[in-house]
Amino acid sequence: MSLFSFTFIRSAPFRVMFPLFLAVQVCLSIEPLLILLAPYESLIQTFPFIMLSVVIFLSQPFNQGGTGLVALLMATSFYFSQHIFGLKEVKDLHWFTFCLFSTALPINLIIIHFLPEKRLLSRFGINYLLFLSFQILWCYLLLEQISSEDVSWLWSLYLKPLPLLSSSPLLLIMFSCLLTTASALVVIFRNSNFDHTIFINLLFSSIALIFFDTPPVPAICFSLAAILLLLSIITSSHELAFIDQLTELAGRRSLEIEMEHISGLYTIAMLDVDHFKKFNDLYGHRTGDEVLKLVAQIMMQTGGKAKVFRYGGEEFVILFKGKNSNQCLPYLNELRCKIADYDLVLRDHHERPILDKDAQNMSHDTEKHEKVNITVSIGVADSINNRTKQYSVSTDEVFKSADKALYRAKSGGRNRVSNLRFA
Ligand code: GH3
Ligand code: MG
Ligand code: MG
Repeated sequence: MSLFSFTFIRSAPFRVMFPLFLAVQVCLSIEPLLILLAPYESLIQTFPFIMLSVVIFLSQPFNQGGTGLVALLMATSFYFSQHIFGLKEVKDLHWFTFCLFSTALPINLIIIHFLPEKRLLSRFGINYLLFLSFQILWCYLLLEQISSEDVSWLWSLYLKPLPLLSSSPLLLIMFSCLLTTASALVVIFRNSNFDHTIFINLLFSSIALIFFDTPPVPAICFSLAAILLLLSIITSSHELAFIDQLTELAGRRSLEIEMEHISGLYTIAMLDVDHFKKFNDLYGHRTGDEVLKLVAQIMMQTGGKAKVFRYGGEEFVILFKGKNSNQCLPYLNELRCKIADYDLVLRDHHERPILDKDAQNMSHDTEKHEKVNITVSIGVADSINNRTKQYSVSTDEVFKSADKALYRAKSGGRNRVSNLRFA
């Protein structure tokens, strides 16, 4: 996996470590940051709004409504956190408001995480916006109500800060850090785009909470969160365009781009699952999907620096750069055997069996299991012109030849590798 590939940027370790690295950098460089950014104070305060507006705007055409909702929440929260502290003359009330907002932000992030539909202009999106407005109104009315009361007991009893760490209440910092840690674990174990979005915002709002009284730091934190949200929109759009959702292999568009830039010696292998229609008819489409995922997993282990793509349906393409088709045959035969030898264990489930990968190692279960095997046929061709022995064959020609070889593998009885040049 290359360091600058999208696969690396989308990986769980990068998604957790990169925001953490930035957050630690901010914490360690507060003094120089204050000096460096002092002349640009008003720009720094406006920057989160500019970036979050860009995120909200882009989230719509990129179909990332959830990220748009999160950006809107962050912008609202940043606005109130900046304007509420005009109430400095009423010290306890000021603290109380601050605590309300610091608690509401992570809770709202979690609420958005659990919304069944996250598009801004959907039933849930609009209901959430109403709920957000209700919270703001409720806070306002509550503050009106208690403005004449003494709430200092709340501060001294429950919301004590740990002066060495921050002037913010320790309880709030712990609450925020706990949620951030939980969301980091979710990213590590599940690694979905939206988990990552929530983690970024919980992390940077926690740092903003710790340094709330060091003015440019919260603005820097909200700006960094917005920049990472933009990065997340770009990577998830890339994922939608270039990665096959079922198998998580590179998709057809990736292959087309790869082929636009290819030259010299290379080999293309086209792999097609044998009698897959029959398999679907017999065991159901869902089991068929599981089988395609499994075939993809086995294909990812192909040797010879192979690049694997899902071409469409039950067809895959394997690309070997710098090798002729003869040199690729051992890797392809090994792959074919691995797939053919893999015992698929099917578990009876509502009359439609489902693939039970863990059942292979079970010896004591009572459910009825059925073992089946699938096979694949592979057609291979390379870029060497048979007549001139030069690498002059166009990519279309190589594909056509690989397809012809695949047809030959099928008509020759299936479960075999056919190499057009050396056949
Ligand atoms: P052959 O050995 O000649 O390749 O026979 P086949 O049945 O595999 O070939 P055919 O092209 O007739 O059928 C391909 C089948 O693959 C048809 C379709 O139901 C199934 N298929 C295509 N894409 C998917 C998918 O994403 N999931 C599932 N479960 N099935 C798929
Ligand atoms: Mg086919
Ligand atoms: Mg087939």
